Amino acid sequence: MALIVHKYGGTSMGSTERIRNVAKRVAKWVRAGHQLVVVPSAMSGETNRLLGLAKEVQPQKVDEAVMRELDMIACTGEQVSVGLLSLALQAEGLQAVSYNGWQVPIKTDSAYTKARIESIDDSRVRADLAAGKVVVITGFQGVDGQGHITTLGRGGSDTSAVAVAAAMKADECLIYTDVDGVYTTDPRIVPEARRLQTISFEEMLEMASLGSKVLQIRSVEFAGKYRVPLRVLSSFTPWDIDLAEEAKSGTLITFEEDEKMEQAVVSGIAFNRDEAKITVMGVPDKPGIAYQILGAVAAANIDVDVIIQNVSHDGKTDFSFTVHRNDYQRAMDLLKTQVAGATGAREITGDTKICKVSIVGIGMRSHAGVASTMFRTLSEEGINIQMITTSEIKTSVVIDEKYMELAVRALHKAFDLEQAA
Ligand code: ADP
Ligand code: ASP
Ligand code: MG
Repeated sequence: MALIVHKYGGTSMGSTERIRNVAKRVAKWVRAGHQLVVVPSAMSGETNRLLGLAKEVQPQKVDEAVMRELDMIACTGEQVSVGLLSLALQAEGLQAVSYNGWQVPIKTDSAYTKARIESIDDSRVRADLAAGKVVVITGFQGVDGQGHITTLGRGGSDTSAVAVAAAMKADECLIYTDVDGVYTTDPRIVPEARRLQTISFEEMLEMASLGSKVLQIRSVEFAGKYRVPLRVLSSFTPWDIDLAEEAKSGTLITFEEDEKMEQAVVSGIAFNRDEAKITVMGVPDKPGIAYQILGAVAAANIDVDVIIQNVSHDGKTDFSFTVHRNDYQRAMDLLKTQVAGATGAREITGDTKICKVSIVGIGMRSHAGVASTMFRTLSEEGINIQMITTSEIKTSVVIDEKYMELAVRALHKAFDLEQAA
């Protein structure tokens, strides 16, 4: 008997018919003798609908009081899902009980709309499992130290599931979704993308942090920290396929490099349309300037990603960096009011029509010339590179958003990532 956590995403929970299918699949695992904790997301489109309602009522302001209510509203999507799934499990003849995050409780910090899980008390869940029940817990939700409901950021149900698996020392966490695993790149953009049987934890972390939305980055961080065996697989296979076959399907996240079976230099391509570029022009090229600019941005709790500083002319330089598009307006306002005058900047400009495209692979550590293949491929397509950033196992470029798909397809081909014909 194993303790298994299943997570089902929005599309997998997208209709009552699909929820019944999820229940049948879970029942199959229970009848095979396993203990199951199931973490579903809201039905597809529901979180967007709820946040859309909030925006109709409050289109402009985004302060802490507003964000608290956004979490209050958004978390209800998952409450409906757990109730429906629990009913469907009962209809399968199982004993099932559903909980909101605060009922477990899943404790988080108070950063509304992007809270971090701090602890999970699993005693209630363990008691239910011992009594023979399937426990269904809301994804995406938590509760802070003062009892306020929080959410974990978009895509956060992955993190709920992995965190529950970590807290309970589950034997495996299975992330059921609408694709049958992790691909070399998003198969919606490149239909020739290839499914990876395994991907190393480090590569998965980079892919997720660089924009591959198949797993929320914090779920991968949790899996790494607590060594949670993690697999991404399809919820769209027939529910009654052989359990042993299902258990080996999809993509396994591996922790040992030598377990990696596919030895490609580049394992995948990620892209991200969520960033915007800001340039502070004509600041004095002297010590302390980067701190003056980025310190102010950090103090407002805005994360900065790619940074470049240009060479100086006549003692002046330009300083560019990217932030999340959601933070763009706030960052621009702050720079114009607090930083421009203090630094003597000539002008502050912004561009929201950019994207970041990245190649990822642990093989890059031992192979030279990978980045230059990337740059050559983009130049052959006539794509101008605005910013570059590298680490041991990735190279990212910032380019005009309108070339994103072209860039991803060209790079996918250049690095031989397509399926064998
Ligand atoms: P869920 O609702 O199950 O959480 P998501 O939409 O969050 O599903 O994540 C699955 C989607 O991630 C896929 O439909 C796919 O379009 C996208 N995706 C992006 N990059 C990748 C990748 N490298 N491999 C697989 N899927 C990817
Ligand atoms: N329902 C939430 C969202 O849409 C969480 C999730 O699906 O993982 O972002
Ligand atoms: Mg998701």
